Amino acid sequence: INERPFNNFDLEILLTLAEQAVIAVINAQLYEEAITDGLTGLYHHKYFQIRIKEELSRAKRYLYPVSVIMLDIDFFKKINDKFGHAAGDLALVHFANILKIERRVDDILARVGGEEFALILPGTNLKDAMQIADDLCRRLEKSPFEIDDESHTMTASFGVASLSSKDSCLSDVIVRADRALYRSKRAGRNRVDLESS
Ligand code: GH3
Ligand code: MG
Ligand code: MG
Repeated sequence: INERPFNNFDLEILLTLAEQAVIAVINAQLYEEAITDGLTGLYHHKYFQIRIKEELSRAKRYLYPVSVIMLDIDFFKKINDKFGHAAGDLALVHFANILKIERRVDDILARVGGEEFALILPGTNLKDAMQIADDLCRRLEKSPFEIDDESHTMTASFGVASLSSKDSCLSDVIVRADRALYRSKRAGRNRVDLESS
């Protein structure tokens, strides 16, 4: 009977395998850190750029809809000015958490600027994307968060656009969503606008 179930050679192999596993886990963690924003845990702008290109070209090839929602927090500067940058950061985390609630597995949610966010909705047409944006807009204004034991709410403005067969360039849809966002800012904020092709 062998009293040592593993001899030195076995142990060396096991150790090598364990090291490989650790490296794989570390690599996965590094990758996750590289594509996400440290504050909100959402994807960052660079990853958004890569994914939007992929999703738009796939949608074009397989003829399914894809929509984009761009959103920007209203008067965010006031929160920083009044309560400080740290409170502003907490408000951003609160905002991101609300965006995460209704996200479906295929949706790609990114923080594309300081207080600007984007949602890519593969398989979603313009009408349904408008509904999703509207629901988010209503949910935000009804979701209080605390700063110094005081309750506050935030609103955001939304711009929605969908990929169309008329688009000559894939980035056209982003340009339209951005334009719709600026229209909703100009029209008074805390609302959703769309721009069809
Ligand atoms: P509007 O309704 O027109 O969008 O007004 P706004 O105040 O939201 O927009 P503006 O672009 O004037 O200001 C955005 C502010 O967001 C300014 C900047 O200091 C703040 N900001 C950007 N990134 C961060 C961040 O990571 N943390 C905090 N606390 N503030 C940030
Ligand atoms: Mg902004
Ligand atoms: Mg803003």
